[in-house]
Amino acid sequence: MSTAKRSLKQFLPLTLTRKFNTKTHAINAAAAINNLSSRSYEETNNAAATAPVNEKNTKTNGNINTDNGSMAINANGTPRTRGNILQFALGLTTPINNWSRDEIREIYNTPLMELSYQAQLHHRKFHNPTKIQLCTLLNIKTGGCTEDCKYCAQSSRYNTGLKAEKMIPVEEVIEAAKEAKANGSTRFCLGSAWREMKGRKSALKRIGSMIEAINDMGMESCVTLGMIQQDQLNMLKDAGLTAYNHNIDTSREHYPNVISTRSYDDRLQTIRNVQELGVSACTGGILGLGETEEDHVGFLHTLATMPQHPESLPINRLVPIKGTPMHEMVKDKQLGFDEVLRTIATARIIMPKSIIRLAAGRYTMKEHEQFLCFMSGCNAIFTGKKMLTTMCTGWEEDKKMLAKWGFEPLESFTKTHREVKPKQVAVDAKEQPKEKKVKLNAYPLFAKKDKELAANN
Ligand code: SF4
Repeated sequence: MSTAKRSLKQFLPLTLTRKFNTKTHAINAAAAINNLSSRSYEETNNAAATAPVNEKNTKTNGNINTDNGSMAINANGTPRTRGNILQFALGLTTPINNWSRDEIREIYNTPLMELSYQAQLHHRKFHNPTKIQLCTLLNIKTGGCTEDCKYCAQSSRYNTGLKAEKMIPVEEVIEAAKEAKANGSTRFCLGSAWREMKGRKSALKRIGSMIEAINDMGMESCVTLGMIQQDQLNMLKDAGLTAYNHNIDTSREHYPNVISTRSYDDRLQTIRNVQELGVSACTGGILGLGETEEDHVGFLHTLATMPQHPESLPINRLVPIKGTPMHEMVKDKQLGFDEVLRTIATARIIMPKSIIRLAAGRYTMKEHEQFLCFMSGCNAIFTGKKMLTTMCTGWEEDKKMLAKWGFEPLESFTKTHREVKPKQVAVDAKEQPKEKKVKLNAYPLFAKKDKELAANN
């Protein structure tokens, strides 16, 4: 972008762009603004926008790669064109993974009220809106990690007052999982402060036993153990592992400001290892690491363009820990709650099947803020005694809150994804129907019972 273009863009406040993007009469103005960077937009979108619509690409087979990702119009006949991306996304009947960064930015910059509202409606097409999954995370090996993640109390490089401990016994995990289950948690996650699993044979065996025990209780299991190879992962899969957590943390651009001891590509490789083996990937990040909103767009772009979207997408809000470099780095930088909400709502729209989890830092949010997150498509929380080394809202408080808002805990191993029937679209571009209104109110009553919801679907 030329200096003149860049400075003009900088001159235009973000809020102005967001306001313009919603109003039909102002779309041209927004397009004019966007035209300043139209080169990159066209480069990334031309192929998709001009792809022929034929019978093949209107069919869905559950595979993200071969789905309607190359469609020029969605099931409602809405074209995939600049200024129209939100409506295009809302009319998709199955996830796509060829989002361009510009498209994600356009959705992210939708006026917040509209973005949140549309995210909730989209959420209802793919998930039961009355269900929130309760997950509990237990640290099985605390501290002493050789990595330099600048926000982490468990890194051996920082003086946070945290004492490194040995791995806990299987019995301790079983007791904690029993307590979590009795309190309504249906996913039990094990965290360990390791860089990678290489050379940890006996630990792997013990973790396998933990996973078996969790599964025997009828709970889903998830582990976060750093980088892992497929043969090691296979052992955990055999033990019944449901998901493997490995976060990308932030955007590729901001990542070097946060971690230097493992690359962004190392992270993506681990996630690939997990998905290729058929284990669900739990992959998200942390907001409030001193990043910009463009980094939120970049972060979402990385996730939404993975060959498979993460089955689980944790959103953490940084809890700055004294003694870590991040504590100083973000001293004068407050993450706005609106940014958290925008990130969640955008994630819900572009990755409609993923379970979006409010993770660390939730206890710093007021109840109405959490409710707004649920309204914008978040459908899981971490609850219990602790969230690794930070505080966590407890079960009792959470159960009261969820009951008050009309939510119920999601059962284990429940397919929350609803089938969205694709609509018939015109095969010939000339026959493309005029833009129809998306049927958004599939579930008009928020607290309707499951049966009624299913009957209405
Ligand atoms: S976030 Fe994980 S990998 Fe990074 S320092 Fe902490 S425990 Fe180690």
